[in-house]
Amino acid sequence: MVFKAAIAALAASAQLASAFEKPAAPAQGMRLIKSSEEDPGQWIFKEDKYTMVKSKRGRKHYIDITNIEDDFVLERLSAKNRVAAQKAIEYPDTLGHVDEAQSFISSAGTEGPQLGLKHLTSGTEAANRLFKKVQDLASANAAITVEQFPHSDFDQPSVLARIPGKSENLVIIGAHFDSAAGKPSAAAPGADDNATGMVVVLESFRVLAQGGFEPENTLEFHWYGGEEIGLVGSADVFAHYRAAGKTVLSYVNQDMAGYSPSGTPAIITDYTDSDLNAYVKLLVTEYTGQAPNEDACGYGCSDHASADANGFPAAFLFEDFTNQTSPYIHTVNDTLGTIMWDAVERHIQFSIGYLVEASYL
Ligand SMILES: [Zn+2]
Repeated sequence: MVFKAAIAALAASAQLASAFEKPAAPAQGMRLIKSSEEDPGQWIFKEDKYTMVKSKRGRKHYIDITNIEDDFVLERLSAKNRVAAQKAIEYPDTLGHVDEAQSFISSAGTEGPQLGLKHLTSGTEAANRLFKKVQDLASANAAITVEQFPHSDFDQPSVLARIPGKSENLVIIGAHFDSAAGKPSAAAPGADDNATGMVVVLESFRVLAQGGFEPENTLEFHWYGGEEIGLVGSADVFAHYRAAGKTVLSYVNQDMAGYSPSGTPAIITDYTDSDLNAYVKLLVTEYTGQAPNEDACGYGCSDHASADANGFPAAFLFEDFTNQTSPYIHTVNDTLGTIMWDAVERHIQFSIGYLVEASYL
């Protein structure tokens, strides 16, 4: 394949980086995972993935790169000095739509999210139930589209909802809806991780859809499957967006929003965009009344890493410092009773503020 080699050489000289070569699979049906920039990738059996997520606090995160073929993404996942994401705009350092955002925030609450949390389960059933729920909320406005985004490796389609704006440029918020507790058959209620993130995105969507919000930029609400098995759902979605040449102005991730002993959320500073983080800090301070803390969460810790790997500006607002997070996640004890609803409320306030403000970027 001379032609392919020539292209690879060109790409290498342009980026001054050597291409990431995947090791060959030792057997069929195995998955290739990568847990750091330096990690050349390890083939593991699918079932072993579940034991690796037992304790998120102590666990090593990883990204499943089995299906990632884009050299740009593979190189970015291995780059020691990552270049910042390409941005189509500059984020402002003041907020111009506070009254409008506050009027939507005033119609948000935690009653819907509390009810939602009670009825959530994981797996394919959850994917279909969520899809129906989002469709129901979308019926408020005929312009809104809702789709299931299928994944080739697991039966848990992601759900993508879109409130079209005057521009096709995208302002996105996302959360994963799968949960894990050590093995495929384990009961994994996943209340904090990540039913809370899922209902934060749902409530933001409900308020803006039912309130008839007409954004300038297009707003998208994503719920991903397959996060706990190596960010597979979000990797597929953002690979598709990159291949389609979509312009993503900002991606904000919601993963764990309901356990915060300090009462202050944290902006995750690694594998995120520092300019977008400064804007998120402004939004959190305005809409929750609290200056957020900052923390890092490591390689492949959640779906923002998929947006970032595909070259899109990403941010992640986490419930607290990473060492003060819920001790129950990835166990049968990650249940409704442990949820701190004031934390969920803060994330909803921030999310609606973000979506309204960024819709004007
Ligand atoms: Zn999670």
